Amino acid sequence: MPNTTDTCDVAVVGAGPAGLTAATYLCRFLRDCVVIDAGNSRAKWIPESHNCPGFPSGVSGSELLRRMREQAMDCGTRFEAAEVEHIAAPSDPDGIFVLASGTRQWQARCVILATGIVDKLPGAPWISDAVACGAIRLCAVCDAFEARDSCIGVYGPARDIGAHGLFLRAYSDRVYLLPSDDADGGEDVRRAVDAGVQLLAPGVALEFDGHHCRSTSADGTRLVFDALYPFLGGSTAARLAVAAGATLSDSGEIIVDRDQMTAQRGLFAIGDVVSGLNQIAVAVGHAAIAATRINALLPMAPR
Ligand SMILES: Cc1cc2nc3c(=O)[nH]c(=O)nc-3n(C[C@H](O)[C@H](O)[C@H](O)COP(=O)(O)OP(=O)(O)OC[C@H]3O[C@@H](n4cnc5c(N)ncnc54)[C@H](O)[C@@H]3O)c2cc1C
Repeated sequence: MPNTTDTCDVAVVGAGPAGLTAATYLCRFLRDCVVIDAGNSRAKWIPESHNCPGFPSGVSGSELLRRMREQAMDCGTRFEAAEVEHIAAPSDPDGIFVLASGTRQWQARCVILATGIVDKLPGAPWISDAVACGAIRLCAVCDAFEARDSCIGVYGPARDIGAHGLFLRAYSDRVYLLPSDDADGGEDVRRAVDAGVQLLAPGVALEFDGHHCRSTSADGTRLVFDALYPFLGGSTAARLAVAAGATLSDSGEIIVDRDQMTAQRGLFAIGDVVSGLNQIAVAVGHAAIAATRINALLPMAPR
């Protein structure tokens, strides 16, 4: 049996930019809010972001998280280090959610899922070092600007890399598609090639020399990349959301309304877990919208 029970207005699952912003808004609405977090925000991977509003000289992901966490704590957010394994939805509209992690349990009137995504990465032991130094990039929208006029690689399944290659072509005339399979890349790859992106034969071997990623093609062609973008997809906590009453689209995304509420009343989803545009600014915007809606749903905070 669970041995810990907290009752609160809102339980936020996840302490990335989305969850931390939601907690700050909720506490400033005088709501009792707990953030339960497993500690693996994607933002931790950001060596230095240059598109984060308010930081013209850039900010590292860990520094941004530190500041956002401090802001949430300063107005009264409680934090719990745990991975939520199950969320049980209430059986009636005004009931409570029950969240569980091992033997621990929390109760909340509303729940925000801010659980992000987990990137699928090439299976090489040097991956985290390559991300840390910017040789591997995981977000072209975030940092293609810094890679302009350099040698850029786009790695992943043939059907997925064409559109990314075309997007990056605006930044450099040295963009290479590195298909990880021999499938037909379809119209997207053809459009990219027509625009001047170079398509390599499938089956390239990737290496990291401590500063750059390198590829060797089956025909012996060798390239050194200033930036290599793998597009291998990612996984979300959709299972947790569905068990709590959310519904998914045909492509597996959590369906939310304009206020970020799922099909289950009182259950919200924000940030990367729900957005195709995985950005700090989007996560923060979702959080403000969801927190404001939750404040309106709950009875007035007692004085
Ligand atoms: C290398 C890299 C560079 C990037 N650069 C930029 C950039 O320059 N600008 C930009 O806007 N964006 C950038 N991004 C994207 C940005 O990091 C994400 O959009 C942002 O972190 C999403 O915030 P989030 O709160 O939705 O999810 P996350 O930050 O991923 O946080 C989710 C949190 O939920 C926790 N969690 C998950 N499941 C559970 C569970 N069951 N129980 C408890 N906790 C759980 C996780 O451990 C994690 O702490 C970059 C991403 C990467 C990987």
